[in-house]
Amino acid sequence: MTAVDVLVIGGGPAGLESAYSLANNGYDVAVLEKEKNICGHLNQAHSLFPNFQNASEVRSAMIDKMTHPKISIHNDTEAIRIKRDIDKWGVETGSGKEFMAPALLLATGFKSFDPKYKEELGYGIYDNVITTTQFEAMCQKGSIVSPHGQKVKRIAFLNCVGSRDEKVGNHYCSRVCCINAVKQSIEAKKVLPEADIYCFYMDIRMAGQFYEELYRKSQEVYNVNYIRGRISEVSPTIDKRLHVKCEDTLSQTPMKITFDILVLMTGIEASLGTVALGQQLNISGEYNFAKSLSLHMADNYSSHKGLFLAGTCKRPLTLPEAVADARSAAGEIKNYLKTLKQ
Ligand code: SF4
Repeated sequence: MTAVDVLVIGGGPAGLESAYSLANNGYDVAVLEKEKNICGHLNQAHSLFPNFQNASEVRSAMIDKMTHPKISIHNDTEAIRIKRDIDKWGVETGSGKEFMAPALLLATGFKSFDPKYKEELGYGIYDNVITTTQFEAMCQKGSIVSPHGQKVKRIAFLNCVGSRDEKVGNHYCSRVCCINAVKQSIEAKKVLPEADIYCFYMDIRMAGQFYEELYRKSQEVYNVNYIRGRISEVSPTIDKRLHVKCEDTLSQTPMKITFDILVLMTGIEASLGTVALGQQLNISGEYNFAKSLSLHMADNYSSHKGLFLAGTCKRPLTLPEAVADARSAAGEIKNYLKTLKQ
């Protein structure tokens, strides 16, 4: 049994930032991460919107913070069972370890929508239909190639895959994919200046600082083409490119275009850990995201004493929002632990 002041479930950016802030305030923190590596989805990012900062810089800074003597990181450690034991939270892991602390922070993050559920888009059928995460890996290598070896002349990005979608039951907006598509379309032009880039959207949502400017720049400097319309069908051409059917809903023109690569901007869903632990703790809210006590008044609190929430386990957030939320959660936990001593 490992006893600490705070147990953090989830070693993504939110969990790590909370752990660091608490450790700096003198608390012993254990971070339980089910994967081999900490930093979560940041491990799959090449550059970050809206300023193209290299994701590895942010990752390294986060990993450096984890050398704090008050933090212990437990990789490959999945929280399976959580129970409240008088005034403490007990966590049992898949490998049979046990942890205990007066405060528990759920920072179990998100998962990306699985585009196989949108079979009309051909993901898993045609190799050149890829996800935004796979495209990010290509950018990381500095090489955007078709799996069939053709020169890449035309790339399409499709927004709202698995978000704002009645059919898959996700009515909400994932908030980050519009700006990410803008960022990735610019990355595409930097690697392949001769290629034509198209971005298919329902609405363009540019609510963050410098997002609108980047959207304009993508058109004025990088000549990215934006088409308001959904892709209705993807089929292969004889030379293994992609034949895409859609409608430009602004000009009400049906279109058929051939692309070398189609990038699906997959939305954010509650992670499997968020769903499983949320249900176990009876704090699952809309779309299985964890439900905070009050959005405006107590967003880091759950309905249970000593159980706190941070980051995208609650809803889609950008990275800076998740990190800021994590610092806020650490502040609330600090206040809570002080009241226990009084
Ligand atoms: S951020 Fe843009 S792409 Fe993502 S769900 Fe919202 S509208 Fe769609």
